[in-house]
Amino acid sequence: MKLWEKNIRVIEPYVPGEQPKVQDVIKLNTNENPYPPAPEVEEAKESFNTDMLRLYPDPDASVLTEELAKFYGLNKENFFVGVGSDDVISVAFQTFFNSDKPILFPNITYSFYCVWADMYRIKYECPKLDDNFKIKAEDYYKENGGVIFPNPNAPTGVLESLDFVEDILRHNQDVIVIVDEAYIDFGGKSAIELLDKYENLLVVQTFSKARSMAGMRIGYAIGNPVLINAMNSVKFSVNSYTMNQTSLFIGSKIISNKKYFEDTLAKIINTREITKEKLKAMGFEFPDSKSNFIFATHKKYAAKDIFEYLKTKKIYVRYFNTPGIDNYLRITIGTDEQMDKLFEALEQYMDK
Ligand code: PMP
Repeated sequence: MKLWEKNIRVIEPYVPGEQPKVQDVIKLNTNENPYPPAPEVEEAKESFNTDMLRLYPDPDASVLTEELAKFYGLNKENFFVGVGSDDVISVAFQTFFNSDKPILFPNITYSFYCVWADMYRIKYECPKLDDNFKIKAEDYYKENGGVIFPNPNAPTGVLESLDFVEDILRHNQDVIVIVDEAYIDFGGKSAIELLDKYENLLVVQTFSKARSMAGMRIGYAIGNPVLINAMNSVKFSVNSYTMNQTSLFIGSKIISNKKYFEDTLAKIINTREITKEKLKAMGFEFPDSKSNFIFATHKKYAAKDIFEYLKTKKIYVRYFNTPGIDNYLRITIGTDEQMDKLFEALEQYMDK
């Protein structure tokens, strides 16, 4: 080892789902939305003034925070925007998780949490989900340095009620509680309505899933202005210009189109419910999902084998080679046509 190598940070990075380089793949592996973004994106693309690219973007991202504020009936001071909710949560970890006590998040959850905790040298503990993949609220009653969990949880798709979220908040009023609502629009009730009651609550959402804009990289946190100010101080200590001109311009144009957003959601939810029936009929088991994916296992067929077989058929689903969940597949809900191709391939596999 060279002496200088000793100073290189060693970290086990987050592994994102594969983005295949080949075309004509049925991509059900990264929880993207199968439908195009709102039509305003096309219009915004036409009217975007490319001269804007000469200039640094607005470091406050005001056009976006103002539109978000209008949509939610809150103030722009309640919003922090970032490069996807990954960026937002990463800033939140740096801003809020600075205690000597460990932060808490479930043992089966978004695998980025432990990466950020390692990266920022934050201690953490991961209470076990119960046998039905539910979070046990009592595990979060002990002293801690902060709490984060997704609702619905990922990769399980399991939703906790708003009463459950409030119970966690009631028991954790001395630390920041982050509710990661990347998938909330697919059937859950947002914790936004608890913001008035709990000043230590931060809700994080994204344009990547329900709004079909994973490629634009826009995420946001909603919280009281003290929290948002603190996050901005951290952001401005690293990079003032995280939100680029095109994301600001195009992103701000789509928020108000509630109808398109709701119609797309309804289609995905409908396909999800059909998918549950079909998978069940094929012998798959899964916890009930209120997200845009299903976390399924089969008693007879190993998840890894199915995953590899599907790949040969150009159907990509997500497989985690992680103890405890290594016999599960996380299947994103695509269009009805895409799901029919998946069922066809699964039937062929089982008939072999
Ligand atoms: N939270 C959860 C639970 C997720 O599954 C994802 C998607 N990988 C994210 C946050 C981040 O999404 P994005 O950065 O695209 O907003």
